[in-house]
Amino acid sequence: MKDNIHPEYYKTTITCACGNVIEAGSTKKDIRVEICSKCHPFFTGKQKLVDSAGRIERFRKKYEKFQNQ
Ligand SMILES: [Zn+2]
Repeated sequence: MKDNIHPEYYKTTITCACGNVIEAGSTKKDIRVEICSKCHPFFTGKQKLVDSAGRIERFRKKYEKFQNQ
């Protein structure tokens, strides 16, 4: 049994793209994530991504109409 092998363990801050900072322990330092439990649509229940996609589609259809005139 080898019990003298321990990975380095840091107190790490996980920084999300939305600005949320989570403190955690990890073998990696300064982790950056694109999405976290605070801004993920599944957790917020707002479904921001789906809603904005619908708006963009409507805007594009309007714009096409103007171009064809
Ligand atoms: Zn986030």
